Amino acid sequence: CGIIGIISSKESKKLSEITISALKRLEYRGYDSVGVASLSSKGIEVRKAKGTVEQVTLKKKIPEMSGYIFLGHTRWATHGAPSDYNAHPHTDCSGRIAVIHNGTIKNFKELRAELESLGHKFNSETDTEVIPHLIEEFIKRGMDSFTAFKSAIKSLDGSYAVLAIIDGEKRIFFAKRDNPLVIGLGEGENYIASDIPAFLPYTKRILVISDGEIGFLTNTSVYIEDLNGNVVDVHKRIRIVDW
Ligand code: GLU
Repeated sequence: CGIIGIISSKESKKLSEITISALKRLEYRGYDSVGVASLSSKGIEVRKAKGTVEQVTLKKKIPEMSGYIFLGHTRWATHGAPSDYNAHPHTDCSGRIAVIHNGTIKNFKELRAELESLGHKFNSETDTEVIPHLIEEFIKRGMDSFTAFKSAIKSLDGSYAVLAIIDGEKRIFFAKRDNPLVIGLGEGENYIASDIPAFLPYTKRILVISDGEIGFLTNTSVYIEDLNGNVVDVHKRIRIVDW
């Protein structure tokens, strides 16, 4: 399983190619399904299926996708069999929020029952799908995007490396607990992934996310809060990889 997120200043199809090549460099982690989400001025688009990166890229015509943000995911099924509809990314009811996740959410059954009682409709058997619906629910209750994302993450009991995008927002939201997550800082373009090789051809400036941290990435900046809600000095964290 693996995740990659890329955010750039301008919309292009080039980002879809970077996403595919990053997913190929994460293949060694093992997976059964593949999916990609793009965010452009037209909104969020998701293409996903069971299969290898090569197969899904061809079948779903991933290189045709364009956007200024891309998320890519390889899934190792834990809840719900490997299938097209259980593949990530997962979206909320409106299709304006997309989420990819590595890990397991222990309390997803309770969360799902509660969300369903509030009218949320689910399209998969995964534990992950509660996350976009939680964000949607908190936004509906009047929270700003980041507060809604943080509230959704705080509701989870389990392990996760999570990335989320919201239509109209030029940011990738992220959170980490017991699953790896690393940021790569490029030139006017930033990356976030399960492992450094995913973005190594594009940048060697990295920043490792610690457990319990939560934040967001723009194409030129990184914002991180630690476990206690304190703002992390990101400049002190930046390292240069020499391999
Ligand atoms: N638990 C999630 C699922 O089964 C994520 C699995 C993964 O880490 O790829 O969909």
